Amino acid sequence: NISTLSPVIRQLDESAINRIAAGEVVERPASVVKELVENALDAGARRVTVEYADGGKTLIRVTDDGCGIAPGDLPLALSRHATSKIDGSDLLNINTFGFRGEALPSLGAVGRLTITSRAKGAEGAEITVNGGRTEPVRPAALNGGTVVTLRDLFFATPARLKFLRTDRAEAQAIADVIKRLAMAEPFVRFVLRDVSGEGDGREVFRTEAEQGDLFSALHGRLGRVLGRDFAENSLPIDANRDGLHLTGFAALPTYSRGSAVAQYLFVNGRPVRDKLLVGALRGAYFDFLSRDRHPAAALFLDCEPTLVDVNVHPAKSEVRFRDPGMARGLIVSALRHALAEAGHRASSTVAG
Ligand code: ADP
Ligand code: MG
Repeated sequence: NISTLSPVIRQLDESAINRIAAGEVVERPASVVKELVENALDAGARRVTVEYADGGKTLIRVTDDGCGIAPGDLPLALSRHATSKIDGSDLLNINTFGFRGEALPSLGAVGRLTITSRAKGAEGAEITVNGGRTEPVRPAALNGGTVVTLRDLFFATPARLKFLRTDRAEAQAIADVIKRLAMAEPFVRFVLRDVSGEGDGREVFRTEAEQGDLFSALHGRLGRVLGRDFAENSLPIDANRDGLHLTGFAALPTYSRGSAVAQYLFVNGRPVRDKLLVGALRGAYFDFLSRDRHPAAALFLDCEPTLVDVNVHPAKSEVRFRDPGMARGLIVSALRHALAEAGHRASSTVAG
């Protein structure tokens, strides 16, 4: 009975700490895919390929053509709070997806992780960590870039395994992550493949790098991810106010849906899930849509990093605005304005 003993305070060992951290960062296969693809994008990749088997439960592999990791840095990539992305002096000015140095050590703690990589001017090398046990770096053949393979997610934490959903549901969540990141990065080529069972794998999603300026690239990419219908039935948005810049596309009221699934918000290039968007869209379309209809929209809000804190959620999927009313206000007014103009155009075409 612990209450009769005098408690002893102990420092946890690194592998226990990593398993605990993994509980926050890695919820399901889709969160693994998010962390690995974000790492590829942070490494400057122009091509990212994601393969999975059995809904990502037995295998997730992300291949990129980014800057790679030098052999000597591989053990560091697996150690906690080690990152090449910030120096810790300015947590407000972050423009990479990652910055905490938590993903790889967490994944190595709860699955079988192998990183194969080749940096420019260096030899290819590989490191493996199984349930927290790291093996020595060994040479590996690779032309460039990085391949990260995670097998048997949560084999080291079986309680977690029970919370996973069907392969189909997990695969759906993976596709959703890829689509969000594909919208955020129109100049990057993405391929998603299901390699369960025999054969070369079924292609689930593919999108080539878009061409042109950012706005037309974005329009093209949204068409490929959300459908041509969306691209052809949406209004371009471009508005500035109080240091906030809003761009993107919002559906015409005639192109609405029965649920709010096709509503996407990106803050400083990062896909976020935020109630702010749902409320702002409801406000913007109040006069244009009945209450049971929901507009599709993909909106990109950019501002100085000091106006928004991305460091509030383990998966960084939520953000906190210094002034949420300002962000909401800008979305509502910009969309209302675009919708009203489109309404005028439509009625003058009918009249003329
Ligand atoms: P973070 O992304 O927060 O820095 P991670 O644990 O995800 O932390 O990655 C640790 C480090 O490993 C990164 O800072 C980066 O230097 C390196 N790294 C991870 N993935 C890649 C990749 N695909 N290409 C190049 N470097 C990578
Ligand atoms: Mg990372």
